[in-house]
Amino acid sequence: MTAPGNVTGVHHTPVKAISPTTVPEIQSLIRRARQDKIPLYPISKGHNWGYGSDSPVTEGNILVDLSGMNRILNAEAISLANPIAVIEPGVTQGQLHAFLAEHYPDLTFNVTGAGCETSLIGCALDRGVGYFGPRREDLFGLEIVTGTGEILKTGFRRLGEDSPLAHLHPEGLGPSLDGLFFQGNFGIVTSACMRLRPRRPREVAVSLSLHHSENLGELVNQLAQLKRDGLLTSVTHVGNRARNHSTLTYGIAHYLENSCAFSPAQSLVESERVLNLVAPSEWTSLAAVTGNRGQVSSALREIRRRVGSLARVLVITDRLLDLGFAVSHALRFIPSARAVAAAIHAMRPLHRLALGTPTDIPIQNLLWKVGHPSLDVDQLDYSSCGVLFVSPALPLNGAFVTEVIAGMERIAKDYGHCLYVTLNIETATSLVAVINLLFDRDDNAKVEIAHRCADALLAFLQERGLSPYRARVDMMEKIVSPHDPHWQTVRKLKDVFDPDNIIAPGRYNLP
Ligand SMILES: Cc1cc2nc3c(=O)[nH]c(=O)nc-3n(C[C@H](O)[C@H](O)[C@H](O)COP(=O)(O)OP(=O)(O)OC[C@H]3O[C@@H](n4cnc5c(N)ncnc54)[C@H](O)[C@@H]3O)c2cc1C
Repeated sequence: MTAPGNVTGVHHTPVKAISPTTVPEIQSLIRRARQDKIPLYPISKGHNWGYGSDSPVTEGNILVDLSGMNRILNAEAISLANPIAVIEPGVTQGQLHAFLAEHYPDLTFNVTGAGCETSLIGCALDRGVGYFGPRREDLFGLEIVTGTGEILKTGFRRLGEDSPLAHLHPEGLGPSLDGLFFQGNFGIVTSACMRLRPRRPREVAVSLSLHHSENLGELVNQLAQLKRDGLLTSVTHVGNRARNHSTLTYGIAHYLENSCAFSPAQSLVESERVLNLVAPSEWTSLAAVTGNRGQVSSALREIRRRVGSLARVLVITDRLLDLGFAVSHALRFIPSARAVAAAIHAMRPLHRLALGTPTDIPIQNLLWKVGHPSLDVDQLDYSSCGVLFVSPALPLNGAFVTEVIAGMERIAKDYGHCLYVTLNIETATSLVAVINLLFDRDDNAKVEIAHRCADALLAFLQERGLSPYRARVDMMEKIVSPHDPHWQTVRKLKDVFDPDNIIAPGRYNLP
């Protein structure tokens, strides 16, 4: 079962890869594919780690790698009054962040924890989740080459790029077509309008560490109410201990080795001690609170009032971290000060995610864990790291969430796995739980067990009338059903946009 080049352990090797750089090239690829009856599988950067990376859903595809189409098409026209970037699929988080820092420092965007080399469009098209909201809400005004080779522009982009409305008004007129191209296979998206975020006068990260794990449901309910009341406007990420420790260990060990002369073996032991000291909670959340000074102060006061008895509330600013680090680093010969310095070193880039700065740390952490710390982050698929996501949407109801997570944990335990869980409070009524298994991809038996465990987790969710909000490539057959009118309609739409079924066959669709 083990396959090179894919953290999921399943890979359908394409017959070849082509890297077009223009829309007419893509149109001619589609004409050719229709003639030759060879399907095309588009990727933006192909770093869909844990969901399939750059593997097509079926065998025999040509991989259409759009990473070379990486222009910001309206670079000169972006402004605070019009905070929209028109981007091509190859534009990455790191690229957009560097561009904005240089040219528009008052603007930022909805970053994810998936590293600097991942795309904005590919992630959004698979309905990824950023720190400020669901990525699908970032995009509108798509330009698509459909499976017939026609160019379709959604919203008011159809009026032409020179129209004053082209890059401003998301909905356009008439039925909205954008949604058809998210988690779909009707065309190749060649550019899109992406919302940027004006920076607010005051932006802080807030971390809550739950005192008692049995109060998780109550914490979720309180966070839900804070969301509904408009006090927590970003996505609140609530991570379990396995997830938080796993993400922090690399940074802590890195500090201990480089700043305290610990050997790798010593740093591992000491990291465990540091983690138990600075991050003892079973559940810890991270969110951003932004606004003018008055708004932020009153939101923080209210957050403290509502959850202060449930969790330790920590308000984190760069200034606080800088100060804390300077003092504790200077005193690092004292074990408790060293622990604080190591923890701040590890936490700093992760907290900045909540304020719009992407980081490679979560990926470097995985590489470090599997003993490949010097591998480039975009080579994760070539390490022995195995990752499978099983990510359900859940109602924003604390008791329900607690019960589902406990059930999933029981199943994982039966297979000898622990779950790495983040509950992303995305909307006022629902959350998405991003849950993964980690395993050694060099060990066939472990790959096999991880897949059986992931199948059992999916079955558990489906038996309860639940569903993943985002599916792995190797999961598609289990989530689409020929008997379901929804999928039947999606298949009929496929005939409209792509009558020869040459774009990404089987992706969120019947074969
Ligand atoms: C440690 C870790 C942390 C992660 N954190 C996050 C996170 O915080 N949030 C999150 O959402 N994900 C996260 N991920 C999952 C994943 O790595 C990211 O979502 C990543 O951004 C997806 O890869 P990509 O941007 O290169 O998209 P791609 O792999 O290029 O695209 C994803 C899929 O979309 C389709 N697609 C892409 N481009 C096009 C196009 N132009 N036209 C038509 N279809 C297209 C293809 O089917 C493709 O397979 C994480 C993964 C790991 C391992």
